[in-house]
Amino acid sequence: MELTETLAATDAGVARAAALLRAGRLVAFPTETVYGLGGDARRDETVARIFEAKGRPRFNPLIVHVPSLGEAEKVALFDDRARAVAGAFWPGPLTLVLPLRPGAGLSPLVTAGLGTVAVRVPAHPLARALLQAFGGPLAAPSANPSGRVSPTRAVHVLAGLQGRVAAVLDGGACEVGVESTILGLAEEEPRLLRPGGLPVEALEAALRQPIASGGSAERPSAPGQLASHYAPAAAVRLNAHAAETGEILVGFDPVRGDLTLSETGDLVEAAAALFHALREADALAGPQGRIAFAPVPETGLGRAINDRLRRAAAPRG
Ligand code: AMP
Ligand code: MG
Repeated sequence: MELTETLAATDAGVARAAALLRAGRLVAFPTETVYGLGGDARRDETVARIFEAKGRPRFNPLIVHVPSLGEAEKVALFDDRARAVAGAFWPGPLTLVLPLRPGAGLSPLVTAGLGTVAVRVPAHPLARALLQAFGGPLAAPSANPSGRVSPTRAVHVLAGLQGRVAAVLDGGACEVGVESTILGLAEEEPRLLRPGGLPVEALEAALRQPIASGGSAERPSAPGQLASHYAPAAAVRLNAHAAETGEILVGFDPVRGDLTLSETGDLVEAAAALFHALREADALAGPQGRIAFAPVPETGLGRAINDRLRRAAAPRG
């Protein structure tokens, strides 16, 4: 990729950032918490490139940023409780995990194939201007390479991701400086999935009940929670060079299959296709069926793809 553009906090800078996002490119932008690595949450390939740019070894779900509660309701299912919390704290450093709205049109990579979605309305004026100008939901994890600290200035973004994002919108230093608080409201019991910029006491006061900690898509508090990660009903075999009798084979160059992750061995294309392929192969194989996956190299995005495939193939109870 070419050099990362630094865009000023002006109408022209925001317009350029929105145009890049509409073209499917990645743009880092300031929020009140930390700088986000933004991309169109509806485009599989764009979301795959977010994981590639960060060098993430697994497809954990990303937070979807929207300009308003009304836009949030287009991607998530809100009940009265969720609306009350959103009304009290949005825009602001609070992320809500809610049931995914069927037909929301998000890439399954954003939710890691889960039936829930994490959504937030940021308060930073530049983030809001960008969301308005772009006009769609932005997937945006922190704009740093995986395993490094979150950036709170444009220069931090460039230090980690120069050449890996099309542009960074420079809004100076972030006010809050820590990530958003994540509140899980997809189940009966509210859960604190991550402490962050909004104190949990404020949430407890608004909900008028204590909030239990723990449980997240990455580190489930109960092993059963892992099952909510999309797992095919069919049995899954990995590193297959050919289909055995009755198997649906998912190819990756040079292995040809009934369907394919990528005929050209392109890992971005394969990551973008992964969750669609899991569902399609599952539907083709049927509940008693078997799916085989061709080998995918353990490099770049291949590590996250293989992490997901190993979990799909793991014995289930
Ligand atoms: P970040 O890298 O700051 O975007 O982190 C996103 C955080 O949100 C991670 O800790 C995710 O596990 C969490 N998260 C996102 N979506 C979900 C979800 N659907 N269910 C549970 N946790 C989620
Ligand atoms: Mg992060």
